Amino acid sequence: MRVFSYINRLIHGHSTCSKLLLLFSVSSGGLVAYAESQAESERHGFELSQLESKKKRVLVLGTGWAGTSFLKYLDNSLYDVQVVSPRNYFAFTPLLPSVTCGTVEARSIVEPIRNMIKKKNGEIKFWEAECLKIDATSKRVFCRSNLDENLVGNNDFFLDYDYLIIAVGAQVNTFNTPGVVEYCYFLKEVEDAQKIRRSVIDCFEKAVLPGLSEEERRTNLHFVIVGGGPTGVEFAAELHDFVHSDLVKLYPSVKDLVNITVIQSGDHILNTFDERISSFAEQKFKRDGIEVLTGSRVESVSDNFLTMKMKLTGEVFSIPHGMVVWSTGVGARPVVKDFMEQIGQGSRRVLATDEWLRVKGFQDVYALGDCATVDQRKVMEDILTIFKSADKDNSGTLSIEEFHDVIEDVLVRYPQVELYLKSKHMPDVTHLLKDAEGNARLEVDYEEFKLALSLVDAQTKSLPATAQVAAQQGEYLSRCFNLRKQCENNPEGPRRFRASGRHQFRPFRYQHLGQFATLGGDQAAAELPGDWVSVGHSTQWLWYSVYASKQVSWRTRFLVVSDWTRRYIFGRDSSRI
Ligand code: FAD
Repeated sequence: MRVFSYINRLIHGHSTCSKLLLLFSVSSGGLVAYAESQAESERHGFELSQLESKKKRVLVLGTGWAGTSFLKYLDNSLYDVQVVSPRNYFAFTPLLPSVTCGTVEARSIVEPIRNMIKKKNGEIKFWEAECLKIDATSKRVFCRSNLDENLVGNNDFFLDYDYLIIAVGAQVNTFNTPGVVEYCYFLKEVEDAQKIRRSVIDCFEKAVLPGLSEEERRTNLHFVIVGGGPTGVEFAAELHDFVHSDLVKLYPSVKDLVNITVIQSGDHILNTFDERISSFAEQKFKRDGIEVLTGSRVESVSDNFLTMKMKLTGEVFSIPHGMVVWSTGVGARPVVKDFMEQIGQGSRRVLATDEWLRVKGFQDVYALGDCATVDQRKVMEDILTIFKSADKDNSGTLSIEEFHDVIEDVLVRYPQVELYLKSKHMPDVTHLLKDAEGNARLEVDYEEFKLALSLVDAQTKSLPATAQVAAQQGEYLSRCFNLRKQCENNPEGPRRFRASGRHQFRPFRYQHLGQFATLGGDQAAAELPGDWVSVGHSTQWLWYSVYASKQVSWRTRFLVVSDWTRRYIFGRDSSRI
């Protein structure tokens, strides 16, 4: 509450500030405005250098996959760069399930953000704080530091920007299920993984206390995972390994009372993977004694019970549990929700951007990673303008040459066209122009052109909320920022269809490099481009090499590899620290 009254004061109640903003916008930084802004800034304890700088101010919110990838590739000599995040480190999230059971230590998968800044000549300013509100009208964000309140100085401050990069990720989606916030564990942050690790040990210690009935011991050792996506499955597999390779030796009296259950609302676990992988995972879990309940939706969770409903039969029943880990997808963070309400996107799940990652309706606010989704424009929305743009001689028909002239830009602007060609095994775009009998046509009129492209939009895919997408978006955007000046009237940019001229840059294009899931017992599954599927022990070794190579620094690479080696030699540590 305190911070919002502070924010309101800053936005509405402060007449000097509003006058200043007005002056700033009309006189674009005249002397009076500048003097007033300095006084204002001093009052709130800001860095004045941000106002004195001639360079455009780029403000990045978040130090996750998207934010750090943007910073890594950005030429920071071109901009005055500031970063705000409540975490002063980057976390390698794909290894979080390994942290829950001590296969890898928490510190091995994090890289201090200031180490990264040092590599960029220290020119980037980092503020450890949470952004609470974005005011895109005045190009200002309001932040609060999460540092110890007992330290002297104000924790609230605001920052102005020329370009804002929103990369704050997402939070776990509970779908408002009663009891989830109170009684479930999440697996999103490093702290979550550490909490889970402690809680697993607690469940075992509690189960071996004297005076408990067998039923009570069994309840304490029932681990339930809600969500059969990669995170839930990898955690279940890690837990199974931890229990069966390490804990049963230390708690032999209760080794037969342990149960692990995965609850999945869909028909299969790992349903974003190839079906060969999901059925391999289901069979492996069956052999390992991990129970998989598909087609079930959790209705509520209490301290010792979880109630669920079978989707097919409508049957409702409760199961006792010692611990529940909730891993069912992501939703917008409060700061993003608030911003979405302000800009008329309140009914959406995450922020909508255009294909250049600009938040819809803004030229200077970008959103990447899990907090956003690219709203891919449909070909059919622009089909008439595409046709007119191609029909140079205004004949009402397109020749093969005219078609070729426009199709390159269409392929760049609308990735669904290429996906459609691939799905139909069409090696050449002119296949689109064949008639119903499969004969090549030399000319097409508007209706025929429209028909040829009528099915392509069905191939439009929204991008998954993964580190791969976030990192590629960060890299793409930084390259656009690096070339912003050179590409100002880019004669080689893709053609605009709804306006004249050319776009400055090509739109963002995601390149899927494949996905992995570890299944326990030193087995993993991989789905790689080209419909290549691999499962088993050899895939686990591939997983080790890929994840070692993907580490962000030699330091974390060394730590992670030594953790894996330590686990092989000594097993996992069961101390509750
Ligand atoms: P994040 O990486 O979550 O970063 C968000 C950043 O914003 C953080 O630094 C956070 O502190 C900061 N922040 C939050 N709120 C604010 C605020 N108000 N103001 C300022 N900063 C803020 N993806 C894969 O591709 N492969 C995998 O194997 C994989 N495994 C995963 C395993 C687990 C357990 C989890 C949880 C995720 C996994 N993912 C994986 C998904 C991947 O981690 C996310 O898609 C990715 O982290 C998204 O990147 P991001 O930069 O958008 O968000």
